[in-house]
Amino acid sequence: MNKINVNKPYLPDINKYKKYLDRIWRNNHLTNFGPLSMELELKLCEYLGVDNLLLVSNGTLALQIAYKVLGIKGEVITTPFSFVATTNTILWENLKPVFCDINPQTFCIDEQKIEKLITPKTEAILPVHVFGNPCEVEFIDIIAKKHNLKVIYDAAHAFGVKYKNNSIFNYGDISTLSFHATKLFHCVEGGALIATDNAFIQEAKKIINFGLSNSFPDSLGINAKNSEFHAAMGLCMLEDIDIIFQERQKIWMYYYEQLKDSFHIQKISKNANNNFHYFPIIFKNQEKLLNVLSILEKKNIFPRRYFYPSLNILDFNSKNQSCPVSEDISKRILCLPIYVGLSQKDQDRVIEGLRS
Ligand SMILES: *Cc1c(COP(=O)(O)O)cnc(C)c1O
Repeated sequence: MNKINVNKPYLPDINKYKKYLDRIWRNNHLTNFGPLSMELELKLCEYLGVDNLLLVSNGTLALQIAYKVLGIKGEVITTPFSFVATTNTILWENLKPVFCDINPQTFCIDEQKIEKLITPKTEAILPVHVFGNPCEVEFIDIIAKKHNLKVIYDAAHAFGVKYKNNSIFNYGDISTLSFHATKLFHCVEGGALIATDNAFIQEAKKIINFGLSNSFPDSLGINAKNSEFHAAMGLCMLEDIDIIFQERQKIWMYYYEQLKDSFHIQKISKNANNNFHYFPIIFKNQEKLLNVLSILEKKNIFPRRYFYPSLNILDFNSKNQSCPVSEDISKRILCLPIYVGLSQKDQDRVIEGLRS
């Protein structure tokens, strides 16, 4: 039986990609803000409904650049229920992650618990739109304003999500995206910063290019640019984006119909649209999950324990921060295979495996 992974990167028609390669060869401009990258930035702004967007080399660096641009030092209030990159970037920049527990229905940061964690050292809030489900952005905005904090959203999962008919990326000071191959929209490797204030993007553009200003290094920078080859993949993806959403929706809805009575499913914000990026299910306990996981693996099906573990318990992290809800959910959650090209027959195999 064929192997079913949790994810399968989308590849556009190779001839589409070749057309962009022809352009790269003609331009002889391979990286450093080339014409394809500029075109992709413009098209993404238009498609997403945002004003200020900068392509970078990945979603992890996007977060690190965001802290630099906003001048964050000290403590960052964040969620333990995310991919490890979220917390890693905070530690890597010598900042301190302060973990706020999550809402057991939405899996996003529990906005009611943020304020209690604010200290004189707090400088930013870093929530994650978990599986593309928006956080309570308006409430978070009020807390941030009241305490003069910056807000950075790790929006790696939230491509195409709108909140009250406005791009979710228009909330907070900066949103960061990942365009990694496993994401809904990808550039093989890549990412982006989106800012409400264009000055942040101008500053970020300098930082990702060694801090150069007219070829002179007048401030500290790094290399976080992306290449024309990556931009070409992004342009191909945008051409196919409607099909990608349709296919994902079909698969998501089928799982939902089949599984909604047997499993606890994430509660999607009523103010937002679902982008059908992930299909997580929650088991009664970890033992049941592990049982099912081993049954599925024998059937050559590989869902993923995502997110597991809860990041507040990692050894290299600041310890003694308890987040019981996140720790509990992370032990019981499994993300099912969802990708363009997953056939109904294969989906039935996954569902039967779960039922057995
Ligand atoms: C994928 C992901 C990242 C990291 O993005 P990369 O482009 O792989 O560096 C960060 N945060 C979350 C929530 C992610 O899912």
